[in-house]
Amino acid sequence: MNSDSSKRTVVDVAIIGAGPAGAVAAALLRQAGRSVLVLERQHFPRFSIGESLLPQSMTYLEEAGMLQAVVEAGFQYKNGAYFVYRDQRSSFDFRDKHSPGWGTTYQVERAVFDDVLIRCAAAQGADVRFGHTVNAVHTGAAPMLDVVDESACAYRVEARFVLDASGFGRVLPRLLKLEAPTQMPTRAALFTHVRDGLALDDIDRSKICIATHPERRDVWFWMIPLAGGRSSVGCVAEASFLDVPHAQREAALRALIRQEPTLNRLIGQAPFLMPVRQIGGYAANVASLHGPGYALLGNAGEFLDPVFSSGVTIALRSAHLAARALNRQLDGETLDWSADYDVPLRKGIDTFRAFVERWYTGELQDIIYYPEQAPTIRRMICAVLAGYAWDESNPYVADPVRRLNALHEVCKPG
Ligand SMILES: Cc1cc2nc3c(=O)[nH]c(=O)nc-3n(C[C@H](O)[C@H](O)[C@H](O)COP(=O)(O)OP(=O)(O)OC[C@H]3O[C@@H](n4cnc5c(N)ncnc54)[C@H](O)[C@@H]3O)c2cc1C
Repeated sequence: MNSDSSKRTVVDVAIIGAGPAGAVAAALLRQAGRSVLVLERQHFPRFSIGESLLPQSMTYLEEAGMLQAVVEAGFQYKNGAYFVYRDQRSSFDFRDKHSPGWGTTYQVERAVFDDVLIRCAAAQGADVRFGHTVNAVHTGAAPMLDVVDESACAYRVEARFVLDASGFGRVLPRLLKLEAPTQMPTRAALFTHVRDGLALDDIDRSKICIATHPERRDVWFWMIPLAGGRSSVGCVAEASFLDVPHAQREAALRALIRQEPTLNRLIGQAPFLMPVRQIGGYAANVASLHGPGYALLGNAGEFLDPVFSSGVTIALRSAHLAARALNRQLDGETLDWSADYDVPLRKGIDTFRAFVERWYTGELQDIIYYPEQAPTIRRMICAVLAGYAWDESNPYVADPVRRLNALHEVCKPG
C-alpha cells in the first residue's frame, strides 16, 4: 500500500458511507456552509435492501433539498400498508393518521434512490469519494480517519467531527469496540425481485403487503411493488428456519412463497429477476450513539428489524438530529450529545421496538386484525406505521409499551 501525504485532507465534517443517512447529513451540513467529505467504499449505483419508505422520511428529504429529485426519479407511489394472515386482511392508509405531516411516500429501488440522494448532496457541494474505504479512526477533539482508495493509496483525513453512516459496515462500532448486545433474536431474510405482472385489479400497488406465514406467526413475508412491473419479495424468520445452502436459496424462497396463499396467488409463478440473496444477524446496537469527536447515524448505531420498514426513516431522522446538533457545536456552543442526539433519536427507536417485539409475539397482529378497533386508536397506530414514532402527542409514542399492552387486552382473541 502506498501512503500519499499530499492527499491529506482537512475538512469540517468527514462522513463514512454515502447511504441515505450519509447523504442527508452531508446536504444539511453543506446548507450551513460546512466543508463536508463523504467517503464511500463502493461505487454507486449499487444494490441495497430497504425499499419501502415511510411518509415521515419525506420531511427529511424535503429539508435536505432532495424531494424534487426523488419525485422526478419515477419511483412507485406509496400510501399505506396491508397485512394478511390466513383469511384475515387489514389495510392502513397512511393519509388517515393521527400525526400531521406527509401521508404518502415511495417504494424505491435503492440502487437508484441512494444514487439520487448522494448526487443531490454532491450538487450542494459535498466532496463525495467513491471507492474510498475507511480503515482506521483516531477519535478525540481532532479526529482523524485513515482511508485507502482503489489504487491502494492510503491517506489521512483530519476533521473537526466524524459522522459514521456506514450502515451494516458498522465502521466505528467495530474499530472502537462499541458494539452492545441487542435484545432482538437473530433473524434472517431471503429475498429477491420478481417480474410481478400485476395489474391494479389484482393488488393495490401503492401499499406494501406484509403477509404472515399461515402456520408460523413469527415468520412473515414482504411484497413491495416497485415501478416497472417488478416487486421486491422477501421472507423473514429466525435464522435457523432459513438456514439453507447457497445453491438451494431459490428453491427455498419459492417454496415459502407457495405456502402463503395470497403471495402464492399473486406471484407463485412469477420469474425471479435476480439471484436470491440472504442477510442475517442484522439487529445491532451500541451503548452510546456518540463519543469524543464522533456520532453514529442510521444502521451504524442501532438497527432493530425490517418488519415496519423503519430503517431508512430512522437513518434520516438521525441525520437530521446529528446535523442540527453538530452545526450548533461547530458554531461554538457546548453540546450535550446525549440530550441533543442520543435520547431524542432513541425515543423513536424505542417506539418501533415496542411495536416490533409485539409483532413477533403475535400481540400486535391481534391488534392489527381486531375488527372493531376505534377509528381514533387505529389512526394512532397508523401514525406509527407511517413513521411518526417521535410525535409524543400520540399516546402510542408517549407510552408505547403500556398503551399496546392495554390495547392488546381488548383485542386478544377469545
Ligand atoms: C431484510 C431487510 C429489509 C429491510 N427493509 C427495509 C424497508 O423496507 N424500508 C426501510 O426503510 N428499511 C429497511 N431495511 C433497513 C435499511 O436497509 C437500513 O436501515 C438503511 O439502509 C440504513 O441506511 P444507512 O444510511 O444507515 O446505511 P446504508 O444504506 O447501509 O449505507 C451505508 C454505506 O456505508 C458504506 N460503507 C460501509 N463501510 C464503509 C467503509 N469502511 N468505508 C466507506 N464506506 C463504507 C456502504 O458501502 C454503504 O453504501 C431493511 C433491512 C433489512 C435487513
